[in-house]
Amino acid sequence: MLCRRRFIPLTTVLALSLTLTVRPAAAKQDILFGGASITGVYYQVALQISNIMNKHLGQKYNYIGRPTGGSVFSINAIERQAFDFGVAQSDRNWQGFYGTADWEGKPLKTLRSVFSMHPETVLLVTRKDTGIRKVEDMKGKRINIGNPGSGQRGNAEDVLRIYGIDPNKDIRAEGLQQAEASRALVDRKIDAFFFTVGNPSAAIEEPAQSVDLVIVPINSKGIQQFVDKHPYYIMTKIPAGTYKGVNQDIETYAVTATVVTNESVADAVVYDLVKTVFDNLAELKASHAAFKNLDPQEMLKGLSAPFHPGAITYYQEKGWM
Ligand code: GLU
Repeated sequence: MLCRRRFIPLTTVLALSLTLTVRPAAAKQDILFGGASITGVYYQVALQISNIMNKHLGQKYNYIGRPTGGSVFSINAIERQAFDFGVAQSDRNWQGFYGTADWEGKPLKTLRSVFSMHPETVLLVTRKDTGIRKVEDMKGKRINIGNPGSGQRGNAEDVLRIYGIDPNKDIRAEGLQQAEASRALVDRKIDAFFFTVGNPSAAIEEPAQSVDLVIVPINSKGIQQFVDKHPYYIMTKIPAGTYKGVNQDIETYAVTATVVTNESVADAVVYDLVKTVFDNLAELKASHAAFKNLDPQEMLKGLSAPFHPGAITYYQEKGWM
């Protein structure tokens, strides 16, 4: 026995040590989590949840937070199973599952809800020197309505329609990604942009350091009636002081950011995500100012696509369902 042990061939030793070092890493499952623009809050959702998952369940998963084109892009990527999880506005969650707006006649029956995150406001942001103080003042101006694939583009189109502004005739509509739009506003290449986002967002904080910004209220009677008609919209206020130069409350309407997945993602993967996020919610709340008011009861509301069964198992264990 002793003799034999002494003569274990070197190749066997090498192969053995290679197996021992390589196997644990190979066993990890890559999970792709789609955010949106790098200056928005969704990207922070994807990054911060990925950090929490890799910290607490790093032996099992390798979570990767990715920027994307926004809600519509992410919902479509989840449908194609290119992402495991993504963040999407509550109005797009509803429209995707029931097949309206961008998904007219093509309901995404595999879309599943996981939980809600922070509230997002429909913002119209301009420079002080453009003179735009009301939505109607946008006429003749160059306005970024958002890239196709973003959630804000649909909100911008709704606002324009409700205020009777034709995007093809009355304004010069641009379709920039949000990171470019924030820069373009500073560079005077556009006069205003729409962005539907949690607060505070770097997409507004950064330009506010270079130019005087104004956030325009979106609160006409028409908007209030529109909000009343849809369960996923509410009227809200951006509190004074949220951004540099914003010295009074600004009235507008809001949606909720929701985490979504595909029914084909394994129950255990969704269960592990939900359990780890809720068991470590204090860490998530502390990771970004937009998350500080997250509350478990609220995080189960505002979701239109059915919950994924992996999430239901955890919510039932907690007695939340
Ligand atoms: N609500 C935006 C969208 O769906 C993204 C907001 C963000 O990046 O935080 O496209």
